[in-house]
Amino acid sequence: MKYYSTNGKSPFATLEQAVVKGLASDKGLFMPDRIKKLPQEFYDNIENLSFQEIAYQVADAFFGEDVPADTLKQIVYDTLSFDVPAVPVKENIYSLELFHGPTLAFKDVGARFMARLLGYFIRKQGQQQVNVLVATSGDTGSAVANGFLGVEGIHVYVLYPKGKVSPIQECQFTTLGQNITALEIDGVFDDCQALVKNAFMDADLNAHMKLTSANSINVARFLPQAFYYFYAYAQLKKLGKADQMVVCVPSGNFGNICSALFGKKMGLPIKRFIAANNANDIFYNYLKTGKYTPKPSVQTLANAMDVGDPSNFARIYDLYHKNHAAICADISGATYTDEQIAQTLRECKQETGYVCDPHGACGYQALKDGLLPGEVGVFLETAHPAKFKGVVDEILGTDIEIPAKLQAFMKGTKQSLSLSKDFADFKQFLLKE
Ligand SMILES: *Cc1c(COP(=O)(O)O)cnc(C)c1O
Repeated sequence: MKYYSTNGKSPFATLEQAVVKGLASDKGLFMPDRIKKLPQEFYDNIENLSFQEIAYQVADAFFGEDVPADTLKQIVYDTLSFDVPAVPVKENIYSLELFHGPTLAFKDVGARFMARLLGYFIRKQGQQQVNVLVATSGDTGSAVANGFLGVEGIHVYVLYPKGKVSPIQECQFTTLGQNITALEIDGVFDDCQALVKNAFMDADLNAHMKLTSANSINVARFLPQAFYYFYAYAQLKKLGKADQMVVCVPSGNFGNICSALFGKKMGLPIKRFIAANNANDIFYNYLKTGKYTPKPSVQTLANAMDVGDPSNFARIYDLYHKNHAAICADISGATYTDEQIAQTLRECKQETGYVCDPHGACGYQALKDGLLPGEVGVFLETAHPAKFKGVVDEILGTDIEIPAKLQAFMKGTKQSLSLSKDFADFKQFLLKE
């Protein structure tokens, strides 16, 4: 499979080049040259297949030309070592629980897949060590660190802002050791991101070590997210509920919903999509006006969706040939303030007993507000509520239980190195590695 850039000014890349480089040289996002439709008999029989069996068929359509079948199968089966159940919350509303992985958020799927695929390419070439740099405000760092933990030939440096990451999140990437180094930066998230960007552009560093990024722009992180939309359909079909299925995705950088749109192009019979936003309503406004106007992000209760210029918009725009009407025909929008998110958390628990996290709450509410008669809705519960325990407990007056997996991280010893936000210090540190 060849990969082109959404900016159209880079040569085609191979899968390996796209995965190792992340971003195209013209700063565009890589897109697969073709999207293969899956055969009708796959859809006819999908409810009888396991999550891994379904995912392998989907993975084969994307990656089968570039990765040997047995290797790809192993990568898919290793990645999906946990279930993604569609749980009934209310009549005709289901929660697709994406939080049963190691760090309790959906990013585990993409991060685990990418780590294994990159590991395969490194082994194949007998290459020198690859160093992954990742800046995080919380969820990404934990998913990437855990996904890459113990993968031979890869070292991960997680840069996070001192005192600005919740203790639960911090312990998910500072207690691991092995090939994971946590760097506590005396600054804010933007400083961490700037250090990473500067490192990629620094000639001395690039001569000294092989650097790559594992952010959500990478095709190996975003395409595998399509797996669970197919599995959600299979689960609803088994219940006889899939005829008018609507999928609602709490969205920030729009990578997650974008992979669902790829699924639809592969023939997955989802009727339509809803992108649920918090107060960062750039996409919502685009749907309304046809104009894409990025703006600085504002902080909200659903902080993993605090994005003011969603990077995967470029992919959606390309997928629909820049056609606003075509985008609106498949996707509608919703936007919620913090007050509304808090209200939804309370109402959902009162009416149904289900405890959402602040991101999932946006998805649940958008289905409640937007489902038409006859439709069945699935919202993505993108993280476990315990990852946002402070906020959720305060709103609900609860003391929600922390899952054993999360408690295990909290028992570990924090190991991190402190650095200033000066690039010279970061560079010095890496040059000695
Ligand atoms: C990353 C994240 C999102 C946003 O996903 P995108 O793919 O960036 O749209 C939503 N919820 C949670 C919990 C996240 O960690």
